[in-house]
This record gives sequence, C-alpha cells and structure tokens, in this order.
Amino acid sequence: MKSAIVIGSGFGGLALAIRLQSAGIKTTIVEARDKPGGRAYFWERDGFTFDAGPTVITDPDCLRELWALSGRAMADDIALEPIMPFYRLNWPDGTNFDYSNDEAALRQEIAKLNPADIAGYARFLQYSAGVFHEGYEKLGHVAFLDFASMLKAAPALARYQAWRSVYSIVSSYVENEKLREALSFHTLLVGGNPMTTSSIYALIHKLEKDGGVWFAMGGTNKLVAAMVAQFERLGGTLRLGDPVVQIDNMGDRVTGVTTASGWHQDADAVASNADVVTTYKKLLSTSAVGPRRARSLERKRFSPSLFVVHFGVKGTFPDIAHHSILFGPRYKGLLDDIYKHGVLPQDFSLYLHHPSATDPNMAPPGHSSFYALAPVPHLGKFPGDWDGDLRKEYADRILAEIERRLIPGLRDNIVTQFHYAPTDFVRDLAAHQGSAFSLEPVLWQSAFFRAHNRDDDLRNLYFTGAGTHPGAGIPGVVGSAKATAALMLTDLA
Ligand SMILES: Cc1cc2nc3c(=O)[nH]c(=O)nc-3n(C[C@H](O)[C@H](O)[C@H](O)COP(=O)(O)OP(=O)(O)OC[C@H]3O[C@@H](n4cnc5c(N)ncnc54)[C@H](O)[C@@H]3O)c2cc1C
Repeated sequence: MKSAIVIGSGFGGLALAIRLQSAGIKTTIVEARDKPGGRAYFWERDGFTFDAGPTVITDPDCLRELWALSGRAMADDIALEPIMPFYRLNWPDGTNFDYSNDEAALRQEIAKLNPADIAGYARFLQYSAGVFHEGYEKLGHVAFLDFASMLKAAPALARYQAWRSVYSIVSSYVENEKLREALSFHTLLVGGNPMTTSSIYALIHKLEKDGGVWFAMGGTNKLVAAMVAQFERLGGTLRLGDPVVQIDNMGDRVTGVTTASGWHQDADAVASNADVVTTYKKLLSTSAVGPRRARSLERKRFSPSLFVVHFGVKGTFPDIAHHSILFGPRYKGLLDDIYKHGVLPQDFSLYLHHPSATDPNMAPPGHSSFYALAPVPHLGKFPGDWDGDLRKEYADRILAEIERRLIPGLRDNIVTQFHYAPTDFVRDLAAHQGSAFSLEPVLWQSAFFRAHNRDDDLRNLYFTGAGTHPGAGIPGVVGSAKATAALMLTDLA
C-alpha cells in the first residue's frame, strides 16, 4: 500500500487527504495546532462558539464530492442551512441592499439604486456565467505545471479581457457606484483588491448565484469535524499538535517528515498545505531548491491581513442579517491604503458575521455571537504594534462604528471579547507577512504563476491550499486539492 503525508489540516489539506485515502493511499495528516481546520479554527468562550475564519460556505457540491468518492452522503455528517439574503450591504448614508440569488428581489434592490442598471446587470450576469464556466468549471481543479497549460487558457483570458479588474468590468455594465461596489467586493473574500484582481474573479457572482450561500450548523468548525470524521472513517490518521520541522529529502525525492517532538515518518509522497513560503524556507531549508524557491515566492505580492474582533453580546438581534457588509465612505481610496500604501486607514469597510441569527446554539440563551472583520495591510507593509496598544484601540474603533451604525449601546452589553490580529496569523499559522489569504490573486500571480501543485524538481513533493492554483477561499483550496490529488494518484499508481 502506497503512503502519503499531508502537512496541515486546512480545508485544502483535509480535502486532499480524503481524496488520497479514498483511493487507497495510506494517508497521515500532521497538524501543528491542537485542533484541525487551519484558518477555520474555533474557540469556545463563556458559552459562545466563535469560528476563526471562513463563514460563507459556497459551492457545497465541491465538498459533497469528498463524501461521494466513497459512496457516502455529506448530509449524514453535517447540516448546511441556506442563508437569505446572502449579504446585507450597508453604506454610511443608511442605504441597505439585500444581495441574493432571488432574481425578482435582486432586481428590486437594483431598481432602488438605479433602475437604468437592471439591463446592465443582466449583461454582467452573462459575463459572470462565461468566466465561471471557463475559470472555475473547466480550470478551477486542474494543475498548471508548465507554461504551455497557461497558453492553452490564453484565448479564454483574452475573450474575457482578463487583464481588466473586476471593478473595471462591473463598471462597464452598471453606472451606480453603490451597485459597482455590491458586484465587486467579493474578491476581498479571497484576498483580492477589486481594483486590481483579474476580471476572471467576477465568476464568484455566478458561483454564489447557482450554488447559494450556506452556513454549517454549529459553525464552520463542525464542517471541519465532519471532514475529519470522513477521513478517519476511511482509515486515515490525523496527528495533532506536532509541527513538521523538516521535510526529509534526498536527491530529487522527498522521503518523509520530522516533527518538533522528534517523531519521524517515511512516505512515498509528501504534500504541504502549510504556507508556501514557510514550507520552502523552513521545512526545506536543507534541500537545494528550498531557499531558492522561497526567495522567488517572497518577491511576489501577498494579500492583506485581517483584524477580527470576536464578541458575545447580551440580547438577540433578529433585524441584523447573518452576513452584513458595512461599506465605509471610501472604496478605492481605502483599498489603495491597504493594498498599495500600507496605511492603516482611519475609516474601514467591515464584514459582520452574526452566526446566532441562523443557529441560536452559537451563543447562550438570550445572547448573540458576532465577529467583525476589517482588512488591514499585511506586516510587510505595515508592521503595526498589534501585540500592544493598537490591538485594543483598533478593536474599540471597530465596535464604535458598529454601535453607531447597527447596534446602539453595543459596548455596554458585550459579555466576552477577544481579537485576532496579523501577528496571530504568523504565530498560529506561520503565514508569510501575516497574510490572511497567501499570494494576492492578480493575473500575473495566477495559475502557472502561483506555487505549483507539484514541485518542479522534487518530484514527489506536492502542495495544496491558498498559495497554489486556483487560490484562497474554500472552493478554491478544495479545487486545489482535487488538482493535486489527480497528480499524486497518477504518480503513485
Ligand atoms: C478570517 C477569515 C475569514 C474567511 N472567510 C471566508 C469565507 O467566509 N468563505 C471562504 O470560502 N473563505 C474564507 N476565508 C478564506 C479561507 O478560509 C482560506 O482561504 C482557506 O481556509 C485556507 O485553507 P488552506 O487549505 O490554504 O489551509 P489553512 O487554513 O491555511 O491551513 C494550513 C494548516 O497548515 C498548518 N501548518 C502550518 N505549518 C505547519 C507545520 N510546520 N506542520 C504542520 N502543520 C502546519 C496550520 O496550522 C494550518 O492548520 C477566510 C479566511 C480568513 C482568515
């Protein structure tokens, strides 16, 4: 029986491990932290459950496949609940926009902003469907190992003007500035600046329209637990709380891994779901290729980091949607500060997660759980005092904004609160520059130009996760796992 080791149990690592184990490869996941899930970690505090990362579940079919491989149903392990509206968007002037895939309701919302944009939206939807087909359905789970594979995709990229940004494409279809923001902000959910991310990412609109937006009851952590259950039922082994410190290698092969505790295991193949820079720089420091590849990756652009305020509050808030986006007074200017200038802006656009709106068990009776997330520059651009006074100050500014716009008296009713800052991404996840989403998804860092799903020289070393093709977000990393599994299963056959 062939064997494989997967380093890291993020969504990419878990999806890859399930695919390998389903195909009869004896697979061990080695995870540094005490719980699986990576960015989808979770905490339980004072009766509240707080998911650390992903909350918007899209394209559930890409997850269902992981059960179908062994003839099982995902629904036996985890309940997904549809969320409606997908997001409630709010601007400082009090305008609300309920964003969903309910055609009639969406048209009404667009008409409230600008009736003339209804026709433009219909044309944008056609564009989005086209890039969804080319970029996601055809290429979202295929590895780009050589430049020839990139050339094959070139005609489609040209047809859809992939050199333009999502915001620029959206603006060519609709005139209203708020609607332009409503149709372009999604790239932020995968670390991309709507002003510079390739228009191919307009596919997210169609992906959400067709697949819906879902919540895993009990939180995303329960979806992680379900994936672990599926993996272990198939016979896989999960080793927690023991970081890999070295990928052992000899010539053009890797031979196994060694962990901080001194544990060692040989394997026919090793796949890393850990940060791509850290993998090459730290885990392969003794190989010929490690330092070289790390240097070349370090020269690339990385997505911003995030600052997240987790808080539990007295009371329930039936009028606050499960997902809210609170846009700030600036859009492009704010994004320039974060992505280009490395400035921590005074204003912000916030994403507010309210899981107890869908599952009251996320909080004690009569209480609500929330997290508020603000994109902030990564540490390479803004090495702020996140472990000092800035943490508390910034959290308080975010809470004041939510209090002013959404929940009067909020700060007097908070019963538990803690924060997650860029420095935590480094400490907990070994994330290069504290980036929340790894390599920035700009055209010249996409597909062949991301870390390859199989190393070019170490022929049995593989990668899966946000730094590889197609990129961050649950559907992205689960797609990367599918691409990597296909390579590994061919190579190990
Ligand atoms: C706050 C936040 C909110 C988000 N919201 C959404 C959302 O709503 N929807 C969505 O689709 N996406 C969302 N994303 C993006 C999505 O969560 C990530 O892109 C995705 O989960 C990353 O998965 P991954 O496979 O790259 O692995 P990661 O989650 O990055 O996990 C990597 C794992 O490797 C482990 N590791 C690292 N080094 C070692 C080592 N030396 N030895 C062993 N293990 C190691 C880490 O501990 C970690 O568990 C969000 C991200 C964040 C941070």
